[in-house]
Amino acid sequence: MAPPLPIMLLVFLVGACVGSFLNVCIARWPAELSVVSPPSRCPRCERQIRWYENVPLVSWAAMRARCAGCKLPISAIYPAVELLVALAWVAAFAWFGLSLVALRVAVLATVLFGIAVTDAKHYLIPDGFTVFGLLWVAATAIAGLVIGETGPFAGPYDALVGACTGAGAIAIAGWLGEVVTKKEAMGFGDVTLMAVVGGALGPGRSLLTVFVGALIGAVTFLLVVFPIVWVRSRRAKEPFAPPQVPFGVFLAPAAMLVLLWGDRVIDWYLRQM
Ligand SMILES: [Zn+2]
Repeated sequence: MAPPLPIMLLVFLVGACVGSFLNVCIARWPAELSVVSPPSRCPRCERQIRWYENVPLVSWAAMRARCAGCKLPISAIYPAVELLVALAWVAAFAWFGLSLVALRVAVLATVLFGIAVTDAKHYLIPDGFTVFGLLWVAATAIAGLVIGETGPFAGPYDALVGACTGAGAIAIAGWLGEVVTKKEAMGFGDVTLMAVVGGALGPGRSLLTVFVGALIGAVTFLLVVFPIVWVRSRRAKEPFAPPQVPFGVFLAPAAMLVLLWGDRVIDWYLRQM
């Protein structure tokens, strides 16, 4: 089922280039800058990065993680994002073969990864990711129907109902959360994210995504984030202030898990009833 090695190498290279572009989106969209122009610059000395300094993975290693202009270190996050996206693309094509479904899985994973990173860094889900995601999901739902290859994705009708269900469910959850906690619980970015997820997964699995995302988020916050913040506030002798929850960070991986395995969970649950 997996394509031959030369094709997988090509998939890895394409994935690394997509990851490189994702770095640009992650850096610029939260600041409301264009991802097309101006060309990439060093964020510190503003020196324009030449094409041979911008080769995914290779340049960072060849330049020993330093800017050629100011010699200041370049974050390892850039090559890490490139490598992770490249590996995700390889995994998608290894699993689903050389197909439209593999491309849809790879692109959705890339968009969700970008959303998770910007939400974690800035508590923000840029429209660039979600508008592209929604158009991509809609266009490929139709294309999948035309060529008769849908894989784990919702068809066009379920995509439409799913987008509304996902966005509606998270809006209701956020609204009730606000009523209970008297604080803003959910940003509008989460609503746009769940429109994309619902479009890809359809109505039933978009609800499961909200549930799984809330579960992953609650466990992570209770077991990891709260204890760290509590210890820090004790050390600094400051009052304990619970940190804000970037829900998109948990919804994004939940959506991928539910896309790939959600049907089995739903089948199992229905059999228990
Ligand atoms: Zn520099």
